[in-house]
Amino acid sequence: MRKLLLALTALSSPAWPDTLISNVNGIQASPDGKIERFGSLLVDDDGRVKQVLVNPHPRLNSVFRAIDGKGRTMLPGLIDAHGHVLGLGFSAMQLDLVGTSSLDDLKQRLRAYAAAHADARWIIGRGWNQELWPHKRFPTAADLDSVVSDRPVVLERVDGHALVANRAAMKAAGVTANTPAPSGGRIENGLFVDNAMELIGKAVPPATAAENDQALAKAQEILLGYGITSVGSMSTSLDAWNAMRRAGDAGHLSVRLMIYADELKLLPEVPKPTSWLYSDRLRMVGIKLYADGALGSRGAWLKQPYADKPDTRGLQFHSDEEMLTLADTAASHGFQIATHAIGDAANAQVISVYEQLSKKYGRNRRWRIEHFQIADPADIPRLAPAGIIASMQPTHQTSDRLMAEKRLGPNRLAGAYAWQTVLKSGVRLAFGSDFPVETPNPFPGLAAAISRQDMNGEPPDGWIPSERLTFGQALHAFTRGAAYAGLAEQTIGSLEPGKWADFILIDRDPTTVDAQSLARTQALETWIAGKKVWARAPSASRPERGR
Ligand SMILES: [Zn+2]
Repeated sequence: MRKLLLALTALSSPAWPDTLISNVNGIQASPDGKIERFGSLLVDDDGRVKQVLVNPHPRLNSVFRAIDGKGRTMLPGLIDAHGHVLGLGFSAMQLDLVGTSSLDDLKQRLRAYAAAHADARWIIGRGWNQELWPHKRFPTAADLDSVVSDRPVVLERVDGHALVANRAAMKAAGVTANTPAPSGGRIENGLFVDNAMELIGKAVPPATAAENDQALAKAQEILLGYGITSVGSMSTSLDAWNAMRRAGDAGHLSVRLMIYADELKLLPEVPKPTSWLYSDRLRMVGIKLYADGALGSRGAWLKQPYADKPDTRGLQFHSDEEMLTLADTAASHGFQIATHAIGDAANAQVISVYEQLSKKYGRNRRWRIEHFQIADPADIPRLAPAGIIASMQPTHQTSDRLMAEKRLGPNRLAGAYAWQTVLKSGVRLAFGSDFPVETPNPFPGLAAAISRQDMNGEPPDGWIPSERLTFGQALHAFTRGAAYAGLAEQTIGSLEPGKWADFILIDRDPTTVDAQSLARTQALETWIAGKKVWARAPSASRPERGR
């Protein structure tokens, strides 16, 4: 009632440009991860939330510019705490190998792409995963040569931690059979793992500014179509940052981007965090570091040997001293730090570094661990006291489940993808997808978070079901938690007076459907700062850009 009176007392102002979106099934997460419901949203002319109303007086509809939500479900705009924005745009423009069912399938897609792009000097592709193939054998240079030998071909694995190159690409890069692998890397028959990837990567002609602009536009279009209104953009290069600045200057930024620079590479040009630019569309907030590789390519650094390859514990990227120096350098410039750590040894190293930095800089610098996939259960209680945020990706769990069981064996899974344990230990959880490693669609992520099941409902009871979250907890991690992790909880992450009116309308009520249905939720409209920036075309099966 008080809220209604407040709204009505403002009626005396001469022009009343506020907009009332009423008759919605509004759902958002409370600060403690419970479900909050509302029926209407009052948005001011600047695009900020003025009131969140449970049941507005019917008279309000005739007083404000009124929009009938027609009973559709409204959520706050979803935030992906960890994605690769230009990577998403480029992966949509390059050869897509996600979901290839066999090496032959990869070859067929390569053949078709090469024929359709006869003038491409290099063929770049991404997304294969040999774990999904019948024989699980890594592809080789000879495999690619049998399809395309006249120009370089470079195909990255789905996790971005390995690539396969054909002979022309190796020749262009000056790599021979005798080239030794750099430390932290491996070379096998045209397969380049982790630090060895750079041997090939440095020979690939860089994208032009126009291509970067195109990739950024493409990425925004894809994200808006999935109901994502803000992103923590990881490992951002100088070229990508410049493309974002150009888009901001031209008024072409819709999605809000919280930027984490690629290691210390941008320090000469961007020596300290920026403030929010372009009406809170772009901000350089942090620096992304790496402690190890990924589990699929056995690059994750483990405390004990791999169960399925006992001669290795994975790749340690930096000595403890190096890691501390890197992180301290970033912190001394005022940056937030987000460090990739997947294996339990890498996570323990990063926790130790953050514990030391917390003593020096305080625990409210929001030290982030990206992925936090395999933790030693003994290390999890160390996070909260040091103010460490766990930035995790629920769909990694469903994608990795069978592979993780093989890599770790049955007895080392207690701290694997342990969302509920992490939350219970008092740690702030932020969710994302790591797109384009996984789809940027947040609904399979929300579904995985509440079920520990994949899109097909496997396994039936969920994988380590004690780590399931409630829908409220999962929504919190994809909204409030992700905003907090990006130092943006004052302006986004929930619909509250004074915050941006970033919201989405979706095609079902996520609190009344099962996980398989939740995973198939579609965004109908995406609004940022009180403006509709995307709407699903009425009859189209694929998302398309709206106004
Ligand atoms: Zn990533």
